[in-house]
Amino acid sequence: MYQVLEQAKVVWEANSELINFCQIEGSLRSNNLRPTTTIGSSLVTKANYHASKENMPLIRAIKNHANEASWLQTYSTSEVGEDFSNRHCYFELIGPKGHFYAEKIRVFICYWGEHLNYKWHSHEAEEMYYILGGKARFRTKTMKKILKAGDTQIHKSWESHSMDTLEEPMLAFILWRGNGLNQLAKIDE
Ligand code: ZN
Repeated sequence: MYQVLEQAKVVWEANSELINFCQIEGSLRSNNLRPTTTIGSSLVTKANYHASKENMPLIRAIKNHANEASWLQTYSTSEVGEDFSNRHCYFELIGPKGHFYAEKIRVFICYWGEHLNYKWHSHEAEEMYYILGGKARFRTKTMKKILKAGDTQIHKSWESHSMDTLEEPMLAFILWRGNGLNQLAKIDE
């Protein structure tokens, strides 16, 4: 997982929006998480992602080290449906329960298959999405836009949001900060 962390730092240092949202400290201790799989986690390495050349080393590192990651899918099938729960997964790279320990931020690496609807949901923590590869249509109650590789989107505390991936899978950073860091997102509908 060190290679993923190192490449994540490279992407970070090149992007002022990521730096302004939260900082990654220089030396983070490993939490020695054991690798886990989900139904969908094998899809991550099979997909090809449209991405800028700056993001490709990180995407390659994620694919090459996917079998070391502690993959999760925390929604129930009754909340999100079987297709979503089978083709979405994530792991916590940095954070209280992440591969690398940090107390005040969480950095998740998240995968969604193509043509998935992520229902309206919300959480107390403030959030930034940073698209590594692929694209999706994002919605809040006041806006709708397509985000592609390199784009960012911020959600305020408890701001409800939803998303649809389009004809290709997507890989993204989700960053959390602020209150409610240890909670899960909840489906709003
Ligand atoms: Zn969110």
